Amino acid sequence: MRAALFDAPLAIRMVDAPMPRPGSGEVLVKVAAAGLCVGDLYIYTGKNPYVSYPRIGCHEIAGRVVSYGEGGNGPAPGTRVVVDPFIGCGTCYPCRIGKRNCCAKLAIVGIHREGGFAEYVTAPAKNLNLVPDVLDDFTAAFAEPVAIGVQGCRRGMVTAEDSVLVLGAGPIGLAVVEVARAIGAKVYATDLSTERLAIAARLGAIPVAGGEGLLDRVLELTKGEGMPVVMEATGAASAMEQTLDLVAAGGRIVILGLVKRGLGITLPGLDFTRKEVTILGSRASVDCFPVALSLLASGRIQYPSIASRFKLEDAPTVFAQLAENPMAMHKAVFLMEPK
Ligand SMILES: [Zn+2]
Ligand SMILES: [Zn+2]
Repeated sequence: MRAALFDAPLAIRMVDAPMPRPGSGEVLVKVAAAGLCVGDLYIYTGKNPYVSYPRIGCHEIAGRVVSYGEGGNGPAPGTRVVVDPFIGCGTCYPCRIGKRNCCAKLAIVGIHREGGFAEYVTAPAKNLNLVPDVLDDFTAAFAEPVAIGVQGCRRGMVTAEDSVLVLGAGPIGLAVVEVARAIGAKVYATDLSTERLAIAARLGAIPVAGGEGLLDRVLELTKGEGMPVVMEATGAASAMEQTLDLVAAGGRIVILGLVKRGLGITLPGLDFTRKEVTILGSRASVDCFPVALSLLASGRIQYPSIASRFKLEDAPTVFAQLAENPMAMHKAVFLMEPK
């Protein structure tokens, strides 16, 4: 089968790879659309610590069921599906309480095992989600990034009555903006990059200039109260440290951004009780694909409209371009059979 293979950092090429065979409890999926995520860019640039080479990347996969391995069952062959790429061990504490997204032995399709930059991919059959008829393959491939926004909003218990401040208008921040907007919340977004902030505004967020003076601007917007919900999606330690100032008393802080391993942050300890604040981490997503797919089907998620389409054969060029300039495109999706 055709596949785009990461051989080593900065090396991706089209290969004729062996056809994968579904193991026990697994499904074979014919890939229709494969989204390129920042995680894939990190595999390309050699910054993804979890990957070993050679590897077929991609964890944002839409396609059709082909067949099942021993003991595997699910939707009939030909059914349109997206693959939830997060595979838990099923036995550790987080898996036992329904949080396989933080499984100690978490395996991710496209990182720990071969992913969707190929004609076919395998995954556990229970990781399949049905694609609503109204969604094309291209749009269905956005289920994974949208699910990250769903997870963040679930963690932050975001409702239509909330005002939400999203720190960072990168891919994760935008996913949060879109889902919080779709829920009906009033969404503010901030970023140091005016270009990124303009995209957040296009997706319906109220832009708030980042950097110096952000706290004053937020207090002004909220009549001195602070934001009921603050969602951190920059991964910058300084932004994380500011969340406790930005949040309203009684509010929630959700941390989605990743700081470097081992890097500490400092928070004003008295505010934990003074504000009785709730601080939550949010990692990838768990069981959020059905909601993400129905949000996409409702037409309330606009992110797909600013993404670019490519053929799988374009992968080497697209990765080289993005490594040089990550702002070169907002999002890329590879279509196996482009129209
Ligand atoms: Zn992704
Ligand atoms: Zn586990």
